[in-house]
Amino acid sequence: MKVINVAIDGPAGAGKSTISRKAAAELGFIYIDTGALYRTVGLNALRLGVDIQNDEAVISTLTDDLKVELKFTDGEQRMFLNGEDVSSDIRTPEASMAASRVSAVPKVRQYLFDLQKNLAKSNNCIMDGRDIGTVVLPDADVKIFLTASPEARAERRYKELKEKGVEASYEEVLNDMIKRDYDDSHRAIAPLKQADDAILCDTSDIDLQQSIELIINTIKENI
Ligand code: C5P
Repeated sequence: MKVINVAIDGPAGAGKSTISRKAAAELGFIYIDTGALYRTVGLNALRLGVDIQNDEAVISTLTDDLKVELKFTDGEQRMFLNGEDVSSDIRTPEASMAASRVSAVPKVRQYLFDLQKNLAKSNNCIMDGRDIGTVVLPDADVKIFLTASPEARAERRYKELKEKGVEASYEEVLNDMIKRDYDDSHRAIAPLKQADDAILCDTSDIDLQQSIELIINTIKENI
């Protein structure tokens, strides 16, 4: 049976994970959040006290002894770092910045590339990230580039963190967002960019429910 793969890429805070999760549930696909993989690798580097801004060589060597696993519990993706469930620990602003930093290291991308490829090979899935349509699944059946203005995205991420009880100011979230956007789209390896054949969806001026409907309809029309 042919497996259907949907790639959803875009900057941080565009609503990729919430929208992809809902769309996957509606379509009966699994949802794979690849940002969580980079966050897990980033968290590992933080915990080991690596100077993540400067120690690229050390970050590269860390993948040798690293075990990153992704498991599904009641359809929810959970992340395991060397056997420990770190699904909550990877959601802090520090883990976000660490993820962005380690994601620019070629050895880290190679390590996670194989994991992502294997998952997509055997599952109908919606996979979200930065380079899914361009690098990981260049032959995906549907590619969507989901975006929104930095302010709209920071506002949403700020509310999300507040609801989870994570301490952060709006300015801090916006500045992190702008820095991550810049870093993600200017790195030499697998930069964030819209694939030539991806459909652009901008959610700056529509709410979450409308965004979910837009994405589900776009997928249905294209598979
Ligand atoms: O999507 P999320 O914000 O959880 O991703 C965290 C970081 O992981 C991003 O800022 C990006 O640097 C990196 N990432 C990536 N490629 C992906 C997914 C995430 O480089 N496919």
